[in-house]
Amino acid sequence: MKRTTAIVVGAGPAGSACALSLARKGIECIVLERGQKPGEKNVASFVLLTDVLKHLVPDFMEDAPLERAVTEESVILLGRNDVVNIRARYYGHLKDSSAFTAYRGKFDAWLAGKAEEAGAQMITGATVTDLIIEGGSVRGVRVGDDELLADVVVGADGVNSVVAEKSGLVSRQDSSM
Ligand SMILES: Cc1cc2nc3c(=O)[nH]c(=O)nc-3n(C[C@H](O)[C@H](O)[C@H](O)COP(=O)(O)OP(=O)(O)OC[C@H]3O[C@@H](n4cnc5c(N)ncnc54)[C@H](O)[C@@H]3O)c2cc1C
Repeated sequence: MKRTTAIVVGAGPAGSACALSLARKGIECIVLERGQKPGEKNVASFVLLTDVLKHLVPDFMEDAPLERAVTEESVILLGRNDVVNIRARYYGHLKDSSAFTAYRGKFDAWLAGKAEEAGAQMITGATVTDLIIEGGSVRGVRVGDDELLADVVVGADGVNSVVAEKSGLVSRQDSSM
């Protein structure tokens, strides 16, 4: 049975940021992502606030797949008969390069690439289906019939996390409610 130091489940922003940080410290790390490539399952665009990214990838402006700088936000309050629109312009954001629109598909793939460049191993098309638990501790994961052991398993598999559920940290919500 294969063994590594750290398994990260999920190559979304949290998983790739974690893998990048581990790999930079020289910690052997395998990322398991169910999509055929990171970001494949996410077609949405989003607003990227770069406060954390600036520390993680200081030169992100050089090659991150950013679309446009965010310069204005609106808060729209809907009443029964009225609409109030509060618009805010952020010239500071432009100066500091702190908020951008981006596509998750492209951004997730880019950040995962940074983790790989740093030395993390990315395995795609790998859906974690269960955990290996011995003596009350998580010892590894199952991907179908395959097993992978590790000193640490990081659950970065999103809101319906298999890792969180199978480790007993959360119970799956009753969808009939
Ligand atoms: C409608 C909406 C709009 C949003 N807009 C914004 C925004 O504009 N800006 C912003 O910063 N945030 C926004 N968010 C929040 C943002 O989407 C989340 O905070 C972010 O996606 C969390 O990242 P994550 O890496 O924890 O999880 P996810 O992005 O969910 O990534 C989880 C990854 O794990 C993989 N995975 C899942 N299960 C398994 C498994 N069993 N085995 C292997 N891999 C698995 C998935 O394929 C995925 O790649 C929005 C959220 C929603 C719902």
